[in-house]
Amino acid sequence: MLSSGADFGSFGSGVSTVAGPQVVLEQAEQADRLSIVVGAATDTGGRSENEDAIFVGDLPPVPSAAETGLDQGVVESGFLLAVADGMGGYQRGEVASRLAIESLQRALADDPGADTALLLKQAFREANREIFANGHAGGSDQILGTTLVAAVIRGKYLTIANIGDSRAYLLRANQLTQITRDHSLVQEQVSQGTLTPREARESRHRNVLTQGLGLRETLDKKMPSIFELTLLPEDRLLLCSDGFYDVVRDEDFVETLIERDPPDAARQLVDLAVERGTTDNVSAVVAGVLPARVALREPVLADGPAGDRPGYLVPLVVLSIVLFVALVLLALTVL
Ligand code: CA
Repeated sequence: MLSSGADFGSFGSGVSTVAGPQVVLEQAEQADRLSIVVGAATDTGGRSENEDAIFVGDLPPVPSAAETGLDQGVVESGFLLAVADGMGGYQRGEVASRLAIESLQRALADDPGADTALLLKQAFREANREIFANGHAGGSDQILGTTLVAAVIRGKYLTIANIGDSRAYLLRANQLTQITRDHSLVQEQVSQGTLTPREARESRHRNVLTQGLGLRETLDKKMPSIFELTLLPEDRLLLCSDGFYDVVRDEDFVETLIERDPPDAARQLVDLAVERGTTDNVSAVVAGVLPARVALREPVLADGPAGDRPGYLVPLVVLSIVLFVALVLLALTVL
């Protein structure tokens, strides 16, 4: 197992891997920033080659995006996390998924302070161009392509971009939400109401993509899909390839995400998919926001559970009674 932020402390030395090793990164806690731990794992699963590629790396620090002047001079570190699921056979899928991840790394290293969503869109376009060109080089018209789900964490801000059917899930307050929507034939049919989610899971055509990197010369204008969220303490983020969710149901991995720290969770989720006989490569990247430190918690007023009375209500009620009694006394005196 590889571990510690120091090993992968500089951007570009992150891990883009096609087999086995587990990756662990930790974001040092600074001031009131969220503290984040990341783990990742991938396995050939039911295949002889691994066409999945995963990436976990630190981003170069940039000045804080905080709007107030109070944070001037604070730099925000960050993470780039990604899962790409290449297709093409004869090890060609490995080329596609690796090109996709390299494009992401370049885009975020060249201009780290620029708008994250914009950088991600540019990276996806560039990757599409390169993969398409590679697939058609020398007159070949081999199908070469890849999915790509990428997450950039800057301070508490999370930006996700995806194309294809690798997914991002968010676990918040024990509730699991699938953030991304697959760009697949069965997802389209589910959206149109012609297929149930269960039928989609069991369909022979569940691996047919409607969008992917390298499949067409020009990327669809609507691609990639972008999602922007603000992270909260104790959130968990999971990026995974279809070799994982094809054989592991939501209810079977929530507990692991809650109970295990991210590096353990990533390894366990991949092992679980392998145990369940996935016929595909399987990858999982897990990021976890540590619980807020008690000293940093703000006083709870409006966020208290329903039925809790804010503390200022009691003196208000007492004051009202005193005023009422005074008015009655005054009225009696006047009469
Ligand atoms: Ca796959």
